[in-house]
Amino acid sequence: MSTADVLHEGLPGVEPVHFRKTVAHFATGVAIVSCIDEGDPQPHGMTISSFTSISLDPPTILVSIKPGRMHRLISKEGWFGVSVLGEAQQGHSRYFAGDRGPAVPVFATRNRIPTLRDCLAWFECEVTSRIQVHDHTLFVARVMHCDALGGPPLLFFSSRYSAVQAL
Ligand SMILES: Cc1cc2nc3c(=O)[nH]c(=O)nc-3n(C[C@H](O)[C@H](O)[C@H](O)COP(=O)(O)OP(=O)(O)OC[C@H]3O[C@@H](n4cnc5c(N)ncnc54)[C@H](O)[C@@H]3O)c2cc1C
Repeated sequence: MSTADVLHEGLPGVEPVHFRKTVAHFATGVAIVSCIDEGDPQPHGMTISSFTSISLDPPTILVSIKPGRMHRLISKEGWFGVSVLGEAQQGHSRYFAGDRGPAVPVFATRNRIPTLRDCLAWFECEVTSRIQVHDHTLFVARVMHCDALGGPPLLFFSSRYSAVQAL
């Protein structure tokens, strides 16, 4: 039994729908996790907001992924890419969240794993540990290569897309 399980059983907690509406007030960026699929010439991508930097030395990030195709691919390959989206890339976010439009986003393999050709920043990551937390898995990964191309970010806030405004 994990620490998360103990806390879950010992406290009254809140309804998941109420939690979802409340936590939506925490603004995040939007990124695409990518992984190769041996049976498919195209890399598989998935939209996430759960990308977090957790250590500088060694450079380490985590992503929180629910069961599905991406979960299976990362578990099998042990490597994944992360591409941070810019404010004009709402279409990419929708595409990789399952709303497949006609324009197929283009990937580039910079070193080991494909990331989006056009993005604000990209990371190539090797899984170092995984932690099961209820209905999601935290994939903790070492960043092996990364770079920033720059530009204004796409934000996700209160369940809507948004952009940065100067204060
Ligand atoms: C702005 C934004 C941020 C998001 N952030 C995240 C995030 O941080 N983490 C996250 O996990 N998702 C996130 N999502 C949702 C995610 O992008 C979509 O659910 C996506 O379609 C999943 O891709 P997939 O290829 O892994 O799923 P697919 O395999 O195509 O599955 C589609 C759906 O079926 C469910 N499913 C498939 N197989 C199983 C199974 N064996 N058991 C249970 N359910 C199953 C999946 O959970 C998913 O909901 C976000 C979406 C948006 C728009």
